[in-house]
Amino acid sequence: MKTIGLLGGMSWESTTHYYQLLNQGINEKLGGLHSAKIAMVSVDFQPLATAMLRGEWTECGERLADAAQKIEAAGADFLLICTNTMHKVAGIITAAVSIPLLHIADATAERVKAENMQTVGLLGTCFTMEEEFYKGRLSERHGLTVIVPPPEDRRIVHEVIFEELCRGKISPESRMHFLRIIETMRREGAEAVIEGCTEIAMLVQQNHTTVPLFDTTTLHVEQAVRFALED
Ligand code: GLU
Repeated sequence: MKTIGLLGGMSWESTTHYYQLLNQGINEKLGGLHSAKIAMVSVDFQPLATAMLRGEWTECGERLADAAQKIEAAGADFLLICTNTMHKVAGIITAAVSIPLLHIADATAERVKAENMQTVGLLGTCFTMEEEFYKGRLSERHGLTVIVPPPEDRRIVHEVIFEELCRGKISPESRMHFLRIIETMRREGAEAVIEGCTEIAMLVQQNHTTVPLFDTTTLHVEQAVRFALED
């Protein structure tokens, strides 16, 4: 079994789900007392979030590259960045290490395509919903048609992520906003919605809506479990 490298803490609320799901996933495959082999660095999110919101992406990339080197030195065979948004600096991070990165958008897109879906709604931070590194990767590399909410709703989703979900706050009112936004994207043609932020599944689960949901945390973990057990 390979050792899974986790670059976590963004936020720690969702990293706890990675840790739990990876261990459950390995145990489901191997049984007994088997659990995942994990090397993790969990960062202090505040300085990174501050830099990110100021647009200081090189600063974010350098801090995360340093963390990734520590993960590699701790024995990881491959790396997961436990957030969608920080994949914006995936290039800086991968340039600093020799282990491969399992990209969260690729793990997600592979599943969407396996379900024979073509048009998806996308929820996440403004960066994820608007920029090439994520929205563009889904369409250009994977050929998906991606629908995002209008600007005012993108702002609501982004604020709920940082002001509530990353702080462990689950608000029924925010859930109603998300469900309204999901329904709007469905009416615009989305066959499913990608929860493109690792905290969103804490707020909206499949039992809240008839629109199929793709939770990026779960899909990233599933790909990692497969990869960890491959020869
Ligand atoms: N965890 C979130 C994501 O998946 C947002 C926090 C961050 O910016 O890293 O994008």
